[in-house]
Amino acid sequence: MLALQINVLYDARMNTPETKYTSTRDLDGNTHGFSDVLLAGLAPDGGLFVPTEYPTITIDELAHLSDKPYSEVFTYVNAKFVGGDIALDTQRRMAEAAYSPDKFTTTGNGNVTPLTWLTPTLAVQQLSNGPTAAFKDMAMQPLSQYMQYELARRNQKLTILGATSGDTGSSAEAAMKGLSGISVIMMSPLEGMTRFQRMQMGALSGGNISNISVDGRFDDCQDMVKELNALPEFADLGAVNSINWARVAAQVTYYINGYSEAVKGNIGQQIDFVVPTGNFGNVLAGYVAKKMGLPIRYLVVATNENDVLDKTIKTGVYQPQKKALETSSPSMDISKASNFERFVFDALGRNPQTMRAYIETLRDKGSVSFAQFEVANSVMKEVGFRSGKSTHANRLNAIRWAHTKGMLIDPHTADAVTVANNLISRGALGDVPVVCLSTALPDKFDETIREAGIEPVRSARFAKLESSVAANAGAFSMLAAGDLEGLARHVREHRAV
Ligand SMILES: *Cc1c(COP(=O)(O)O)cnc(C)c1O
Repeated sequence: MLALQINVLYDARMNTPETKYTSTRDLDGNTHGFSDVLLAGLAPDGGLFVPTEYPTITIDELAHLSDKPYSEVFTYVNAKFVGGDIALDTQRRMAEAAYSPDKFTTTGNGNVTPLTWLTPTLAVQQLSNGPTAAFKDMAMQPLSQYMQYELARRNQKLTILGATSGDTGSSAEAAMKGLSGISVIMMSPLEGMTRFQRMQMGALSGGNISNISVDGRFDDCQDMVKELNALPEFADLGAVNSINWARVAAQVTYYINGYSEAVKGNIGQQIDFVVPTGNFGNVLAGYVAKKMGLPIRYLVVATNENDVLDKTIKTGVYQPQKKALETSSPSMDISKASNFERFVFDALGRNPQTMRAYIETLRDKGSVSFAQFEVANSVMKEVGFRSGKSTHANRLNAIRWAHTKGMLIDPHTADAVTVANNLISRGALGDVPVVCLSTALPDKFDETIREAGIEPVRSARFAKLESSVAANAGAFSMLAAGDLEGLARHVREHRAV
């Protein structure tokens, strides 16, 4: 009976007009299908792809999905973004492969993003049960499935060149490892990553995966990628960074899954999410879920000392930092939020002309406000954004506090828990369930855990990490910062075959 109802829902959705995408800066109103957007990453005009209209999800649909395994919920929700571009059965097969039990630790009924309640109103939603222990896996796993499928269909190969400050690199490599027609070349800085993160990447080197260690910082890596991309010979290189729409779309499902568990059958009730975010990618997926109709009241952005987004939400003025500060939640050490443009596009009435003016003002003046474009500076609060920040000392306290409640959390999750507890103590949150997103396992950041006075425990599945890297001779090629010739040579030798 239930299966039948689900099929009826599928049919209803399949009859709705297909989701199309446009660039936030496209003055000509061109539209594209999901598959093109998936492979393109950034739009050619420098803008970001967004759906021409957000798909919707009803309370009835949410109720039907509430007891389904994660891969089934994903298939259903993500199909709203993929549309008729790929057959539904193929999408289901890819979702099952992406979230298979050998990749994600699951709990009852195949739930890969379960909640742990720390207090009667505050829960932590685990998004880091995947192969590399960070929430990047939630999107990177299906992304690799879709990319492989689409490249095979087009009879194309793809060489991906990326720069990582920690989690993206290993997540992309784990997802793409062994795929035919795709090779991944990842640049990472010698400084700034934790030992665990370096080991994770080193263990994945070989075959279609290669790692380059740059004698410099993350910014040096990113600059080299940009410079190489600008050369005609390397114009065809692909990217898997967080501005890829397919990644944002894939993240919508965990909000829906977390919601279902948090309301305990009371579908329709509002809840709040507290989200550690840097590039505005994590929280953007929550915003999309809310736009679709998921009953979210507040989307609380939690930042560390790099608090650009906290200030923007409170004042309406967006002023990227010149340089990111290095903190103990390094995956959020970001000076400008690349995905923010997608929200701004909506706030500016989805007008690409105004969008371009906003970007130009930002470029010329180094800061920009909504009010300059006749939009209230309180626009983010009006649509439900709230925010807060945390310091290193706050994170240590939050790690200790969560530990007394029976859960060991990582420093990024601690940013969220800090902000949640601050707002709860001020009475600004807590009257409805509060879900803090947990974006990494503490295994990755054991130095900070130890600093909080807790002896970290390594998960069994990572027990052999160091020895597997030691056995993987030549796991990292070395390059000096700025050595573009060396990078070009490496890419030529490691292109996808
Ligand atoms: C990437 C990352 C974030 C931030 O994600 P955004 O997409 O930048 O919002 C938060 N925590 C961890 C552990 C991450 O790896």
